[in-house]
Formats: sequence, structure tokens, C-alpha cells
Amino acid sequence: MKLLDEPVVNQYGHIRYAEDADHYYECWPMGFNERLVLLNKADVYGGYTYGWCFERTGGLLVKAALLIWEPEMQDEPQFWHKRAGPARRAPQRGVNPMYNRDRCVHGSYMDAPCERDQFCAREGN
Ligand SMILES: [Zn+2]
Repeated sequence: MKLLDEPVVNQYGHIRYAEDADHYYECWPMGFNERLVLLNKADVYGGYTYGWCFERTGGLLVKAALLIWEPEMQDEPQFWHKRAGPARRAPQRGVNPMYNRDRCVHGSYMDAPCERDQFCAREGN
């Protein structure tokens, strides 16, 4: 994944921050939240492949997550509070097993209490 030199904003306020061979990485405003989405380049109008909700910060938190995320080796980014789609599996996830432990839909690791919802059903991955 490579961050674009300049983010691209479309008419819907979607901010394209990065891309890789197969996906665009965009931040979409969603009511009270923002969503980091991975769009399939071959089907950008077919909906997003993966999505995670972040606190609304004008894209800052999403961009921070993208700056430190290594999608080839890390299943999912950090700082999100709700998964909005399927759990992602990195192509080389075995390289970083501690990072890639299972998480609930709120992003907390399943071997620790959910940080978001004390009644979390823990049915994440
Ligand atoms: Zn949870």
C-alpha cells in the first residue's frame, strides 16, 4: 500500500488516501463516524470490500491508521471501533501473529476484554 502524494477528494467528500495493486483506500464521511474502506479497483462502484468505522476527525485518525498499517502483513488497521464488513486476512499474516490475533467487531482482541461494549457478544472473526 502506498500513500498518495496528495489525497484526492470527490464530490461526495470521499478522501482517497492510498492505493495498492488491487484497492483504493478511502475515508468516507458516514453521519457520526468516518469509514475507512478498501475499494476494488476493478469494481469501484460495486461497494467496498472491507470497512472500519472511526471517530470523526476529518480524516486525521484514518490517515494516522494508514501511516502505520502494513496491510501485507497485518490483517486490519488500528484505531477503529466498529468493523463494517468481513474481517480481513492479510496475505502474509503469519509473519505477525501477535498483531493478527482474532478481534471482535469493535476491534478489541478476543483474548482481552472488549474496550467498547461490556455486553459484546465477541462474535468477531
Ligand atoms: Zn467487542
